[in-house]
Amino acid sequence: MAQQTPATSSDYRLTVGLEIHAELATKTKMFCNSVNDPEETMPNANVCPVCMAHPGTLPTINREAVKHVLRVGAAINGNFADYTEFDRKSYFYPDIPKGYQISQFEHPFISGGELVGVPVTRIHLEEDTARSIHGNNQSLVDFNRAGVPLMELVTEPAIHDAKTAGEFARALQLLLRTLGVSHANLEKGEMRVEANVSVSKDGTMAKKYVEVKNINSFRSVERAITYEAERQIALIESGGSVSQETRGWNEDKQETFSQRVKEGSADYRYFPEPDLPKMMLSADPEFSRNTIVAALPELPWNRHARYVALGLKVDDATFIASTLERSTFFDAVLLHMQEDASHVPLAANYVVSDLGGYYANNPGVEYKNISAESFVELIRMVSSNELSSRGAKDVLAVMAEKGGVPKDIATEKDLLQVSDPEALKASVREVLEANPAVVEEYRAGKESVLQFLVGQGMKATRGAGNPEILRELLTEELKRTT
Ligand SMILES: [Zn+2]
Repeated sequence: MAQQTPATSSDYRLTVGLEIHAELATKTKMFCNSVNDPEETMPNANVCPVCMAHPGTLPTINREAVKHVLRVGAAINGNFADYTEFDRKSYFYPDIPKGYQISQFEHPFISGGELVGVPVTRIHLEEDTARSIHGNNQSLVDFNRAGVPLMELVTEPAIHDAKTAGEFARALQLLLRTLGVSHANLEKGEMRVEANVSVSKDGTMAKKYVEVKNINSFRSVERAITYEAERQIALIESGGSVSQETRGWNEDKQETFSQRVKEGSADYRYFPEPDLPKMMLSADPEFSRNTIVAALPELPWNRHARYVALGLKVDDATFIASTLERSTFFDAVLLHMQEDASHVPLAANYVVSDLGGYYANNPGVEYKNISAESFVELIRMVSSNELSSRGAKDVLAVMAEKGGVPKDIATEKDLLQVSDPEALKASVREVLEANPAVVEEYRAGKESVLQFLVGQGMKATRGAGNPEILRELLTEELKRTT
C-alpha cells in the first residue's frame, strides 16, 4: 500500500463568516432622547435616566435608527421582516447598566441579501454598551455610548479567502457612508469587524470555530484571518484541536491571542422585551419597503456603472467610486463640465493619477481644499494649451494643498503656457542662432535633432512655451531659411 502523503495546508479550506457592528448616525440614542454624539469628550455628558437604567423608566424606539437599518437592507436586496420585535440579551458587565442589552434575536429587521457576492444572513438593531476605561488602579465607566443605536450585520459562513472578507468590509463601509447611516470609521470603533474563522477539509464551517475581535483596520481584517487560519491548521496538524473561543487581534505582534471561551446563545437567556411594542413593518408607511427604496441615493455599484458608461476606464471608475469623498468630488466636476463632456476622460485621468497620487502621499486633506469649479477650469486650461501637463501637475498640487484658482497659481508660479506664435518667434530665432551645428545636421537630413531644438526652445521660454507650437515654428523657420 502506498504511503499516505502527509496533510498540508492545501488540504484545508478556510471558511469565514463576518459579524459587523456599526454605530448609527442618529441625533439621539436608540431608546431615549439623549444626544448621540461620538465626538463628545466630556464623560457622562449625554445620559438620562433611561440609558442609565433608573428604575421605572421605559424605552421608546428611535424610528430614524430603524429606517437606517431598513435602508441598508433595501440596498443589499434583503427581505424586510413583516413581524419583528426586540429581545433582552442578559449578561452582567459594568458597561451594561440594565444588566441586559436590548437586541433582536429571532426576528431581525432584515434577513437575506447580498454584498460583493457574499450572502448576508441578517441585519438587526441593538444598543451599544458604555465604555470602560481602565488605568491608574481604577476602572471608570463613560455612559455616553450606552444606548447608541448599533446595527449588526451577519454574513453566511460563505467566505473562503481573506481578501474577500476585506473587500466585503470595505464595500459595507462605502455603502453605510453612501446611505448616510454611519460614519463607519474602523479606527474610531464606529464600525467593528469580527470574523468567525475555521478551517476544514470539506470547506464547511467547523462546529468549533474561533471568533476574532479587536480588528481595527481593513488590512488587519485580512491579516488576522490569514494568521488565524494558519494557527488552526498548525494546531490540528500537530494533533491538537481547535477550541471554541474568542481571540483578540494583536496589531503590534500581528497575531491572535485567547480572550475567553465563547458562551452559547442559551447563556444569554434571550426573551422578548416586554417594554417595547412589537412591530409590523408593512403596516407602517414610513417603514414600508417601497417608501425606503424610493428614498435610496445612488448606490456605489450603480455609480460605478454610470462612470463606465461615461467612457471612463473600468479601473479609473473603480478608483473614483471607491470612496465617497472622491466620487462626490467627481460628480461635482461632472456637473460643472456639463457643456464640455469631451473632457470627462481627461478630468478622470487627473483625479486618478495626479490627485490620487497627491492624496496618497498627503493623507488627511482629501478633497477638503480643492473646489470642483477650479478643477474644471484647470482641465479647460490644459485642453486649450494655456497650461502644459507638466505645469498642471504643479498647479493641481497647490490646489489640493490649499485651494485657489488655477490661473492665479499658474501666473504666480510663471507656468502659463505661451501658445501665441508671435510671442514665441524671438525664442525660436534665438535657438537657431545659438545652435548652427545642429541646424546644419537637420539640413543634412537628420530630422531627429528637431526634438533637441524644441527642448532648447522650452529652455529659452523657461518652460512656458507650448512645445507643439515651438515645433511648428522651428520646422517652418528651418524650411524657410534652407
Ligand atoms: Zn438617555
